[in-house]
Amino acid sequence: MGKYKGVLLITTAQDENHHQYPIAWAVVDSECEESWTWFFEKLHDLISYDVELVFISDRHKGIINGLAYVYKQARHGHCMWHLGQNIKSGPKSKVGGIAFFMRAAKAYKQVEFDELYEEMKNSYPGITKYLEGSIDREKWARAYFPGSLYNIMTTNGSESINAKLVFARELPIIALLDAIQSLISSWFNNHRKAVVASTQHLTPWAETTLRSRFIESQKMEVVQMNTFEYHVIGVGHDAIVELNRRTCRCRVFDIDKLPCAHAIVAAVHHGIDIYELCSHYYTINVWALAYTETIYSIPLSEEWNIPAGIDFLIVLPPKVRVNKGRTKKKRIPSNGEFKIRKKKSIVI
Ligand SMILES: [Zn+2]
Repeated sequence: MGKYKGVLLITTAQDENHHQYPIAWAVVDSECEESWTWFFEKLHDLISYDVELVFISDRHKGIINGLAYVYKQARHGHCMWHLGQNIKSGPKSKVGGIAFFMRAAKAYKQVEFDELYEEMKNSYPGITKYLEGSIDREKWARAYFPGSLYNIMTTNGSESINAKLVFARELPIIALLDAIQSLISSWFNNHRKAVVASTQHLTPWAETTLRSRFIESQKMEVVQMNTFEYHVIGVGHDAIVELNRRTCRCRVFDIDKLPCAHAIVAAVHHGIDIYELCSHYYTINVWALAYTETIYSIPLSEEWNIPAGIDFLIVLPPKVRVNKGRTKKKRIPSNGEFKIRKKKSIVI
C-alpha cells in the first residue's frame, strides 16, 4: 500500500438497487490466513447469522480457510472474473474460449450449463481440463451453486471501490481511513437522496428489469395446468411456472428472486399483482433502511471513548519486507491464483 506498506481489506455487499454497499475495511500487515481470520471474526461481530450468507472472493487460501473457520454455515463461491483471468493467462485458452467459459458460468439452468460445458470440452479442452483440475463447478457455475447467488458472480464491487481509492493508497494509514470514511459518507448521502426521489414500489433497477421482462412476456402464450401451475410457451424454450412456490424451470425467477417473463405472463393470467412475486429486498422501504444511518467522520482524539483493554495496548509498527528494486504497483497473476493486494469481496 504505497510507501507505508500494509494491505487494505474491504468487504462489500450489493444494495437493493444493485449498487455497491461497503460494509467493513481494515489495514493489516499482510494478506495471510491469520489476517483474514481476524478480519472475518470482526465481521462476525456485526453479521453473525450466516445460514443464508454467500461470499464471493478470489481463491486466496487465507480467505478460504478464514471463512471456513469463522462462517461455518455460509456458502462460498469464487469470482468468475478472476477465474477467467487465470484461464486467459494460461496456455489453456484459445480465442473465444474465455467467452464460452463466461456463458457457461452465467447459465441459470443445469441442463443449459451441461450443454455449454460439453461444447466447451470439445472446442476448448485445455480450459475444462484446467477447471476440473483446480476447482469444483459448484464454486463458479451459477446453475450448480447451492446458495442464493442472485446476480453476484464477481468481486467487481470491491474492485470498483478499490479503483476509487487509488489516490488514497499513498497516504498514511489514518489519512487513508479518513479518505474511505469521506467517500462512503458521500455515497450514503447520494443514495439516500435517490431513495427519497423514488416514487415507485421497487428500486429503479428492479422496476427497469421488471418492465423489460414484462415486454418480453407479451410475446408468450400461457396455458393453466392446475391451480398454480402454468405452461408458458415462449419464443425460445418453454417453461413451467409454479406461482405458489415462486419458481420457474428457467430458474431466473428462483435465483434473481424477481419474476421472469414466464412468471409475469402467468401472474397476469392468474390475476395477481406482479409485485407480490418480487422479493421484499427490492422494495423501496428496504432500500431506504440501508441508508438510514449517516456515516460520520472520526471525532477529535480528545473525544474518544477508548475501552480500558485497548487503552493500555502498545501498537507496534507493522512487519514489512523491504522490496529490492522498483516497486510494482500493478497486480501480477501467479500460477493458479490471481493474487490481489487491495481488496476482497463479501456478498450477502
Ligand atoms: Zn421463467
